[in-house]
Amino acid sequence: MIKFGPAGNSQIFYDSGAKTSLEAPKWCNEHGLTAYEYSFGRMFNMSHEKAKMLGEEAVKNNVLVSVHAPYYINLANPSEESFQKNINYLLTSLSYLKDFNGNQCVFHPGSCGTETRDVAFGRLMSRIDRLLENIYSAGYGDLYVCPETMGKSQQLGSVKEIVEICKQDKCLIPTLDFGHINAVTGGTLKTADDYRKILDYVYNELGDFKTKNLHIHFSKIEYTSKGEVKHLTLDDTVYGPEFEPLAVVIKEMGLEPTIISESKEKMMEDAIKLKQIYESIGG
Ligand SMILES: [Zn+2]
Repeated sequence: MIKFGPAGNSQIFYDSGAKTSLEAPKWCNEHGLTAYEYSFGRMFNMSHEKAKMLGEEAVKNNVLVSVHAPYYINLANPSEESFQKNINYLLTSLSYLKDFNGNQCVFHPGSCGTETRDVAFGRLMSRIDRLLENIYSAGYGDLYVCPETMGKSQQLGSVKEIVEICKQDKCLIPTLDFGHINAVTGGTLKTADDYRKILDYVYNELGDFKTKNLHIHFSKIEYTSKGEVKHLTLDDTVYGPEFEPLAVVIKEMGLEPTIISESKEKMMEDAIKLKQIYESIGG
């Protein structure tokens, strides 16, 4: 089944009387949402005991929780020491994902720094084997690690790069962030065909299972020639992209992704809107 949910909690959640993320699965369930993303973007700010409680709430409320690993992970960093640390941040993220009873962990693959894109991406690719060894030997081979398409031109994570990474193992599934893709390509996502090209490419390169079970981030995003500037809400009429043509292609291809709304401040409201848009499409 296709799943919709927010990346974290918006003000309406707290206005409804909720106090902590432990109540988020119940809130999502009451609003027809079956996914929820918890971000450790800036730090690991939760005990494992609490995380397990959230995991129980998730199961009870039929909500699948995903994890966003720290934003500072950069698998292309020239320093070996930093690479080891980054592996550990990912393993810690996966340990929380287990607590949450979820199965998809999103991460940002890295950036070019002062190097050329080829050099930085080459180093990242040469390290995937070691990353996988660590994931499997820590016992997380049954989870999905989902590198994300990124929104700034200096970041690694074009659609092609993410597909190359995901070819390396069955546990690697793309996170397609369509707001990022639109921002970094200067607003190229307009029609159903624009989305279809990307999803057909992923299907041809990675096959049925990974395409069907994609992790998707969706929000409208302001951009310049260097890419992403900031996340917007679905109310924006300037930057896009629009969700409806994507929903048409998802339905047409029979995909069952997890779709996370990353709208600025209104991720819960907009997750509900995304679901409504999807459901309003015939066929
Ligand atoms: Zn992200």
